[in-house]
Amino acid sequence: MSDNSERDCGKAGEDRVYKKNEEYIVVIEDTGTGGEGIAKIDGYTLFIKDAVRGDRCRVRITKAHTHFAYAKLMEVLEPSPYRVEPVCPVSKRCGGCKVMAASYEEQLRFKENKIRNNLEKIGKITDFEYYPIIGMEEPYHYRNKAQFPIGLSSDGRIISGFYAGRTHVIVENDKCYLGVPENEEILGIIKNFMEEKHIFPYDEVTLHGLIRHVMIRKAFVTGEIMVCIIVNGDSIPDSDDLVERLLAVKGMSSISLSLNTENTNVIMGKTIKTIYGKPYITDYIHDLQFRISPKSFFQVNPVQTDKLYSKALEFAGLTGQETVWDLYCGIGTISLFLARNARKVYGVEIISDAIRDARMNAKLNGIDNAEFFVGKSEEVLPKFYQQHGGYADVVVVDPPRKGCDTALLETIVEMAPERVVYVSCDSATLARDVRFLTERGYEVRKVQGVDMFPHTGHTECVVGMQRKHI
Ligand code: SAH
Repeated sequence: MSDNSERDCGKAGEDRVYKKNEEYIVVIEDTGTGGEGIAKIDGYTLFIKDAVRGDRCRVRITKAHTHFAYAKLMEVLEPSPYRVEPVCPVSKRCGGCKVMAASYEEQLRFKENKIRNNLEKIGKITDFEYYPIIGMEEPYHYRNKAQFPIGLSSDGRIISGFYAGRTHVIVENDKCYLGVPENEEILGIIKNFMEEKHIFPYDEVTLHGLIRHVMIRKAFVTGEIMVCIIVNGDSIPDSDDLVERLLAVKGMSSISLSLNTENTNVIMGKTIKTIYGKPYITDYIHDLQFRISPKSFFQVNPVQTDKLYSKALEFAGLTGQETVWDLYCGIGTISLFLARNARKVYGVEIISDAIRDARMNAKLNGIDNAEFFVGKSEEVLPKFYQQHGGYADVVVVDPPRKGCDTALLETIVEMAPERVVYVSCDSATLARDVRFLTERGYEVRKVQGVDMFPHTGHTECVVGMQRKHI
């Protein structure tokens, strides 16, 4: 075992080979993009899961490459001042909350830095107004949706929880600190019911058993709760009794079955059968109403979504006269947010069900200046532009992690909107795309990080770009 502070003395550049299972004592210097700790030994980089910036710790190399290695945190010798005891006892095994061992302030610092670094290093931009990241006042219980697999423990009890790491082994845990408190109560009711009625969970190996997953959603503004039980069949015996028991939960508004008899990893089946109440719950983002069905996409952190969209609206700089394109629009949330301040909004989304929801949401909110198209943004926009000479004052994009297709970016440049607003859940691909646009006549004016997923390594960000007038 060796100490990197000692090894730093004149030994840099030595042809040292680092091997699996070797142990080192290191000080964590920084946080990697996934939330892992980073330490250096003579310029050789170690990535250490669960280590917090500032920790002095003993680590063991688990996989060594030429210029870097992955290492396991064996022991924290001197905890970092930023280290806290995670509230969740299973956070390490679950792997969802990768930075829960860091204080919330440190988590925000890490996310703010990550966005800045990516914009500077990948995006090659330095001159922009960078607002402090918007964190949550109460960074727990923020998720409005949870899906729990149901299975059997080794001693034959019915359990629910989450899959450990990239496996299908269920780690028993009903109390996720990111989810709503009602989850635990609902899972308890369903498991007791199954025990009493001798209903078995689905077994992925034998393909027998009835109950596969339980999906729970809560509308934060209206308080409505939806339970959808995913079954390997088309009904649950004595389901009236189960409904009765679930109605004890305050806010219970919709209970349904999702029929999934396929041998698949996809959770939801094609058919939804409502067994109590409405086939949807209703929630609000800001003052806009949304109907959410079991299979609809809806942002999982509604509190932060409101803040994110408000920034996107601010960066769009609308006066009521503009034509706006909202690409990758999902169920039209951003489109509808913008529509009341624009002349016309066009939304484009690849999933046809989402566009059906978007049209319905527009109607529900009395918005008649939003039009939606099903298709790939990189195909719909270029086609529209060629055929109709499409015009845009503002283009908003909110792509998945892989970012925008070049064909789309090229069309945006040709259409030459005054402003481009880029909403992103991956600041690396955001930076790549921003660079494309800055090399073709745009400049980044404003950047705002929003912490949509506290305790995880992920972060959202919105960038306001302006066309340069030369
Ligand atoms: N703006 C929405 C959704 C953002 S998530 C919201 O805030 O709720 C990204 C969306 O892009 C998803 O709905 C996904 O289905 C969609 N998508 C993925 N690839 C696409 C493509 N090539 N063209 C259009 N939409 C796409």
